[in-house]
Amino acid sequence: MSTTTSRTDCDVLVVGAGPTGLTLAANLLARGVCTRIIDKDPGTPRLSRAIGIQPRTLETLDLMGIADRFLDVGHRVRGVGVYAGRRRLLGIDMAYSGSPFRFQLHLPQHHTETLLRGRVTELGGTVEAGVELVGFSDDGDAVTAILRDTAGREQQASARFLVGCDGAHSRVRHALKLPFLGQPYAWDWLLADAHLDWAGRPDQVYVFVRPDGLPLACIPITGQLWRLSLPMPGDRGGRPPTLDEIQGLVAERGPGAMVVTDPETLTCFRCQLRSASVYRKCRVLLAGDAVHIHSPAGGQGMNTGMLDAANLGWKLALVAAGQAPESLLDSYGQERGPVATQVLRFTQNLVRFGTAARSLKRTLRDASLPALRLPPVQRRLAGRMSQTVLGYPDSPLTRPGRVAGLPRAGERMPDLAVHAPDWPGKTLYAVLRSGRHALVMSDRAAGPADWADLRPYSDLVALVAAPLRHRRAIALVRPDGYLAAVGTAGDTTAIRDYLQHLAAAPIPTASAFELVNTPNGLAQLSDPPANGPANGAAVRPAGPDGRAGAGQLAELGHGQPRPRQPAKVFVSEGGLELTGYGVHRGASGGMKSSSEQERCRMDSIGEHLHTSSGATD
Ligand SMILES: Cc1cc2nc3c(=O)[nH]c(=O)nc-3n(C[C@H](O)[C@H](O)[C@H](O)COP(=O)(O)OP(=O)(O)OC[C@H]3O[C@@H](n4cnc5c(N)ncnc54)[C@H](O)[C@@H]3O)c2cc1C
Repeated sequence: MSTTTSRTDCDVLVVGAGPTGLTLAANLLARGVCTRIIDKDPGTPRLSRAIGIQPRTLETLDLMGIADRFLDVGHRVRGVGVYAGRRRLLGIDMAYSGSPFRFQLHLPQHHTETLLRGRVTELGGTVEAGVELVGFSDDGDAVTAILRDTAGREQQASARFLVGCDGAHSRVRHALKLPFLGQPYAWDWLLADAHLDWAGRPDQVYVFVRPDGLPLACIPITGQLWRLSLPMPGDRGGRPPTLDEIQGLVAERGPGAMVVTDPETLTCFRCQLRSASVYRKCRVLLAGDAVHIHSPAGGQGMNTGMLDAANLGWKLALVAAGQAPESLLDSYGQERGPVATQVLRFTQNLVRFGTAARSLKRTLRDASLPALRLPPVQRRLAGRMSQTVLGYPDSPLTRPGRVAGLPRAGERMPDLAVHAPDWPGKTLYAVLRSGRHALVMSDRAAGPADWADLRPYSDLVALVAAPLRHRRAIALVRPDGYLAAVGTAGDTTAIRDYLQHLAAAPIPTASAFELVNTPNGLAQLSDPPANGPANGAAVRPAGPDGRAGAGQLAELGHGQPRPRQPAKVFVSEGGLELTGYGVHRGASGGMKSSSEQERCRMDSIGEHLHTSSGATD
């Protein structure tokens, strides 16, 4: 085995190109983050696992601008029916989910991955197939990963952050020595994707429960192709079923008159119910099956991983751009950990419901059925399954609050029509695609004073108006479509507090930037010296009239150039002011994220400018 060293510099190394890693990479690339995505698999066709894309995931794909691609090829399923023989015990109608997507979209996972991979490519990324992460070290400033290709060649790659989206057997999680607490289920599951000749409607999932606690689930994939899923007591050691065996079991457990033919997949697997409680260790993070696994009941796993990625994507992008401090990344696990706990509990309850064997359990289950049919409970069930009711009201990021007509802060904000000169004919989600938060003001209240108050955050926030029910309402919506904070015209305290916290970071010192004249007489923040630290860099005066203009703010004191972010310099009554963002090194030499969306008074720069100007001019 040969070993070569090539320094690969990227902001984020995504390990694993399953649905979670691909969603994360697409979110990062769309926000201009230098991203590398690898997968150890060289591209061999795999068993298609997930089928159901839930409404909240469709909304998230809409936020990524690609929901239509999935809708064009997926199969719409309106609900789930639970039966005892031919008797319908319970139905869950996805129209109750509260989403404009009033259905689950069924699409084999490999198609979902193909569409996501297409988006990654379109955004300039490349999925590096056949590249395995074999180890990594995190020195606090960067992560150095050891990658191995299929020929056994190894290379080092350095990244500012590494995200393990590497599935249930995550090497990243193992390397971090994180416990994956839980246990396997006590039975195997048989699975057949096959043609099914029967009277079932292709827009419904059917679950047939039985007194022996051994159900049959029939899940439509397309009009004719169905997934048949059957728990089996004991341990088969992974031996896949035959078509005859499936036919026999379907005849035994189903409502009768079902003929199974043309199987595309016949397999046996064992599920586990496990989760890790740590989502981040310094510069390494985990997402998807790498942090939570459970049974496929309810079709939650892939969806939860993709929603992990959507939560992490915008945060990593802000941190990578120096627009927010690294501590923002802690909110990722603080938000997604409790969601995973709820998802695990939900799937476990579904399994218990479907496999209730003892008569007492069955009696209790059947006694609860009338309550489960009530519309509020139906809404709750559909919301749970579709993941539309999951949110972050208890997150340390969220500023608690409520304004009539809006969801509670922390909850999902539904899409709605908005209007603003910059966003003609747009919806809220289309605005959020810009990667910024959206400040939605009631179109009857929008007071310029409120926006003036928040102007320092204009790099982070897009301003729109909408017909909100409360005439003075103002809502700040995160890029992943959750309500960050609410306020009213004249009281934006919670919103300002959220933004201050989001952007909280050291303010750059005058010595961190070089301000030089440009031919047009406007000041410009220039590159630092190529290799030298920026401390002590000369600050030269702005134009003779004191005017200053837009410039580039570069990462300082670092040999490797990073993508630069724009910084704007302008003069106000009080003196020179800077808005924008950058990354600079702290005294310790460690990378510190610094965010200056909060427009900082540049009195110190001004002062420095005067003192230095004598020396330099
Ligand atoms: C039978 C079955 C049915 C299911 N049905 C549903 C459903 O209907 N709905 C639903 O939401 N979920 C369902 N799931 C769960 C769903 O498949 C998973 O939750 C989903 O695949 C998780 O995505 P992921 O990207 O986190 O991980 P994975 O899909 O496991 O992807 C991880 C990737 O990382 C790569 N990798 C691993 N180690 C390394 C390494 N060291 N270096 C580089 N690459 C590496 C792997 O090759 C893989 O491509 C089902 C699962 C099963 C088994």
